[in-house]
Amino acid sequence: MSRLVKKFGGTSLGDMERIKNAAGRVKAARDAGHEVAVAVSAMAGVTDQLIALCDQASVLCDAAEFDTVVSTGEQVSAGLFAIVLRDMGVPARSFTGWQVPIHTSPEHGTAQISGIDATALEERLAAREVPVVAGFQGIGPDRRVTTIGRGGTDLTAVVLADALGAERCDIYTDVAGVYSADPRVVRRARKIDMISYEEMLEMASVDAKVLQRRAVALAMARQVRIQVLSSFGDGPGTLVVGEDEMVEKEKVSGIAFSRDVAQITLLGVKDQPGVVAALLKPLVEEGINIDLIVQNVSNEEGETDLTLAVKSVDFERTKAALERVREEPGYRDIKSGVGIAKVSVIGLGMRGHAGIAQTMFETLAGKGINIKAITTSDIKISVLIASEYAELAVRALHTAYGLDEGAA
Ligand code: ADP
Ligand code: ASP
Ligand code: MG
Repeated sequence: MSRLVKKFGGTSLGDMERIKNAAGRVKAARDAGHEVAVAVSAMAGVTDQLIALCDQASVLCDAAEFDTVVSTGEQVSAGLFAIVLRDMGVPARSFTGWQVPIHTSPEHGTAQISGIDATALEERLAAREVPVVAGFQGIGPDRRVTTIGRGGTDLTAVVLADALGAERCDIYTDVAGVYSADPRVVRRARKIDMISYEEMLEMASVDAKVLQRRAVALAMARQVRIQVLSSFGDGPGTLVVGEDEMVEKEKVSGIAFSRDVAQITLLGVKDQPGVVAALLKPLVEEGINIDLIVQNVSNEEGETDLTLAVKSVDFERTKAALERVREEPGYRDIKSGVGIAKVSVIGLGMRGHAGIAQTMFETLAGKGINIKAITTSDIKISVLIASEYAELAVRALHTAYGLDEGAA
């Protein structure tokens, strides 16, 4: 007998039939002798509807009330899931975030989970019940409901798995696992059987598709085993594990991309110690996530250029924050634009292998796609390109690295 946490995403709970299908999977695991705790997302589309309601209520919606509204989608799912389980003869009880309680920092919309008291969940498990926890939410220090970022139920699930010492965290979604590229974009994408946390961190895009980045980071730090699998099929999914468990380290295991990126270049930045830190400080203060930073070599005047990529939704705030440091420490000019995509090639096996980047640049050149910026880590090469070429680039790279299903 083992203890499992099972998380169901929005599509997997899209209607009553699907909730029953998901609950059936929990019942089957219990019948096989496992202890199961569940984390649920809002039903598909519900969170977007709740956000739209808040926008209609006020353009300057109070952040705490916003969270009070948008967190309710998960509460509905948790209650319905528990009702359906009980109807199947499985004792169950729903928990909102504050009822667990899951404690968070006070930043509404992007709160960090600071701790969880698992006592009540342990009591339910000891009583052979299934606790069904509403994902995406917690309670802040001022006793207000908080939410933890889009796709946040993945993080709730990993936090539960860690706190309950679960053997594995199963993340049920609408595809069979993690693929070598988004299967909606690349029809011949392959399902990956095993992927390392490090690679998954790079694959988990800023758009929080398949797995939320923060959930992967926590799973890596706490060594929580994750399985991503379909709630509609029966095959094994993708195991996300430590690098030491990876037998085969692919040179390129996957291609990831995110659209809705904005690029900002600061021209004529003084090339002196401390200048970059001072320029970026207002962004940190605003809580803006910088997705990519590239600095040029300095010219004869001792000046350099600095290119940043941020999410398009943060574009105006980023520009406003950078205005505050235009004079001191200063830059000569700013060039910026939206409509950019970031495309990344990822693989543990690229460490110490030459030629991976060259293939990327030649493939993009072959399609006439201009590269606006390049960054690399030891297991990833990322480029910024015009957004309209994102899908073309992903497909071409997928083929170039021999990843297409059926290719040798
Ligand atoms: P959920 O609602 O279950 O959390 P998400 O929409 O967050 O589901 O994530 C599943 C979706 O992620 C899939 O439908 C797929 O289109 C997309 N996706 C993007 N990249 C990948 C990838 N490399 N492998 C699998 N799915 C991916
Ligand atoms: N319902 C939230 C969202 O749509 C959280 C989640 O599904 O994980 O982002
Ligand atoms: Mg998701």
